[in-house]
Amino acid sequence: MKREQLEKHLNEKVKVQLFNGDIIEGYLRKTGEDDFKNNPNLYIPKNRYFLTDGGLNCVSCLFRVSHVVKIQIDKNIKCCPYCGSEQYYIKQNFKGTCCYHIRFDGKETENGDLWDNASFKNTSKYAWCSDCNKRLFELDN
Ligand SMILES: [Zn+2]
Repeated sequence: MKREQLEKHLNEKVKVQLFNGDIIEGYLRKTGEDDFKNNPNLYIPKNRYFLTDGGLNCVSCLFRVSHVVKIQIDKNIKCCPYCGSEQYYIKQNFKGTCCYHIRFDGKETENGDLWDNASFKNTSKYAWCSDCNKRLFELDN
């Protein structure tokens, strides 16, 4: 993984898979930030990353960019972390592909004329942002 890719997710709630197979969850932070001035373990090392509980408590080991195999954004995000859109879509198949829009807060949204009683099949296991089309998170099924 490239440093820029990882740093896009700083301060976001993420799930990180490390090279040793460990999967850790928390808010991504970087060493050396002022928030951690009082904690030499988190302040002095250079270019290391770790996860917190959302506050200043570190809940993971320190790791390097090169240790990260995969990073996932938490499903419970309230909006797109890239552009702030409140909508995402999943790709589905029904005699072709359509985009089924869902609001993050679960309220109804415009979906045009989707057929009632039609059976849709998800064609991608990811959710995509309705506005900037970036891949957001992995779906459960
Ligand atoms: Zn977006």
